[in-house]
Amino acid sequence: MAQVIDATWRAMPRVQFLGTGNAFSPHGRMHALVLIDGNILVDAPPTLLPQLRRAGVSSGEIDHLLFTHWHADHMFGFPFFILERKVVSNAEKSLNVYLRPNGKEILSNLSHVGFPGSLNEVLNDDINWLEEESGELQNSEWSYERFQVTHTPETDPHGYLLTHTSGFKLLHCGDSGPCQEIEDRSKVANVILIEMGVPDFVNSPNHHNPSQVNSLAERHPHATILVTHNYSNSGEQAGGFPRPELKPEIIQLEDGDELVIEENGDYFHVRK
Ligand SMILES: [Zn+2]
Ligand SMILES: [Zn+2]
Repeated sequence: MAQVIDATWRAMPRVQFLGTGNAFSPHGRMHALVLIDGNILVDAPPTLLPQLRRAGVSSGEIDHLLFTHWHADHMFGFPFFILERKVVSNAEKSLNVYLRPNGKEILSNLSHVGFPGSLNEVLNDDINWLEEESGELQNSEWSYERFQVTHTPETDPHGYLLTHTSGFKLLHCGDSGPCQEIEDRSKVANVILIEMGVPDFVNSPNHHNPSQVNSLAERHPHATILVTHNYSNSGEQAGGFPRPELKPEIIQLEDGDELVIEENGDYFHVRK
């Protein structure tokens, strides 16, 4: 893997990191958000719409939305997204939403609180609610397997193992502390997208801290570790937490970074 800046990537399969911050959006970071091939989203943070605009993507281009869990930094953008998609982007195709049982009720309640009376039709007619734990993402080159992780239990936390037709595997760990489910799948992943939601002085079972990210990298040297949901600042701002030193092979993502995947499953990291 190499870090390159290359204009040819645009036509290639790619994973864009439109946000890399934890729930508190540290300096220089929006909430964690992943966009795959321009039409697959993982989660819907509160600032989903401005994050898509910054990337030059219309909400109407999104076909698939996968949810990891029910924390506000991962779901509060949903009502804005489906309303804008309907009345501004005039999306004609329906949206496939992948979620756990009871997720439809949670997102419907949130939408009724946010825009009372305005979203009934969208919720009923324009969304396919899909609860399968694994499957193909139609009209894409990806399939998914959802798996349970260790995080606030009330949020029904999960991650996704995403497999590209090339064989490339991205392990999206959602929000989670270290757990066996992540360990098992890390063995087959090419890239492990791991949250680092808390600094070392916080020892929470529900998040990774820098020491735990380092030891994940030590246990899985075959994989590239990408850090997101970062508690630390991007850059040198005063206030908040400075960026921790991690093992040099670990990449602490910045907003706007991308991962480009080649036909043979090889991949490279792009920072603009
Ligand atoms: Zn979070
Ligand atoms: Zn969370």
